[in-house]
Amino acid sequence: MSAAEGEERIPLARPVTGEREEQMLIETLHSGLLSLGPRVPEFEGALGRWLGAEHVSAVSSGTAALHLAIRAAGIEAGDEVVTSPFSFVASANCLLYENARPAFCDIDPRTLNIDPEAAAAAVGASTTGLLPVHIFGYPAAMPALERLAADRGLWIVEDACEALGAVHGDGKAVGARGNLATFGFYPNKQLATGEGGALVSPSAEAKGRIDSERNQGRAPDMGWLDHDRLGFNYRLSDLACALGLAQLERLDRMLADRERVAGLYGEALGGVEGLDLPCPDEGGDRRSWFVYVVQLPRNTDRDATIRALRERGIDSKPYLPAIHLMSFYRRRFGHRPGEFPVCEDVAARSLALPFHPGLTEGQVGRVSAELAELLH
Ligand SMILES: *Cc1c(COP(=O)(O)O)cnc(C)c1O
Repeated sequence: MSAAEGEERIPLARPVTGEREEQMLIETLHSGLLSLGPRVPEFEGALGRWLGAEHVSAVSSGTAALHLAIRAAGIEAGDEVVTSPFSFVASANCLLYENARPAFCDIDPRTLNIDPEAAAAAVGASTTGLLPVHIFGYPAAMPALERLAADRGLWIVEDACEALGAVHGDGKAVGARGNLATFGFYPNKQLATGEGGALVSPSAEAKGRIDSERNQGRAPDMGWLDHDRLGFNYRLSDLACALGLAQLERLDRMLADRERVAGLYGEALGGVEGLDLPCPDEGGDRRSWFVYVVQLPRNTDRDATIRALRERGIDSKPYLPAIHLMSFYRRRFGHRPGEFPVCEDVAARSLALPFHPGLTEGQVGRVSAELAELLH
């Protein structure tokens, strides 16, 4: 490791962009069509081909995709939706936008995704849907959840915002199994457009409704001022779609680089006592590496570890916190510690380490060595 590299601060995440992104952005700028132009359907088509999904809508964020997805699923005020308390807050927040409520259930300690048995136990009289999250890019147990949904007459929306490129054991790409599914393109995601998201829908009819709702409720063939339904401005600009097209061209390479970096962490941290690493793939499920989150040994002061890493030039984050224990959710729903013991234990110990496709072997070695030393 060079002295210069030793000095350099290692950030948590960093998008990979290059000449192709610059070229696509400049071409789009020069076209004069910055929104509602041709880049939007081009990006939707290219993403759909990459995923193996026919109906894709580009929207302004992963959160917007979740909101439009639950509306397309038919959510109504007062509905309960079974979902994970171990997620980014957007997957629960979107339900509140429609005056529905999350029925949280505990997670599987290996995959950190909702446990299908806990999900079944959480289904009540007001439950209308399931909203599984493929957390940290690891596929949720969709076949079991799909059986539960079929048995109980529930709709499914998949939050695949962290899982672009993941594959289920049955060979289907995450987000392309015929359910409504959402992706996000914030700069730390596998594919980055600055802000942005996409929604995969099961039919042309569903896509038509979503495309209208993202654009103030206008039907594509309508005049400017007639609106036949409530809509939003959840459009993704042509500039963002141009970035997305360039990113899709390098996506396979970026995913392979993420896997390489995860492998380096696995080798470097595998022997650290009491430290739990992300679960390896099992049963044919394939993770798409989004973050590298370790669980610290139970007696560790996590905040002190984060501070000590920061002093050594390494960013890290207590990621993810349990949603039901956030102050807003406690106030609104009266949640208390102890409701979801697996989630709470994992949330209390989780630490996200620097992770992106450009991390070098030297940087992973430096992060791992500092962490290992702090834990001893
Ligand atoms: C990133 C993410 C989203 C979407 O986030 P936006 O910032 O709105 O794009 C939703 N759910 C999960 C689990 C995420 O990680």
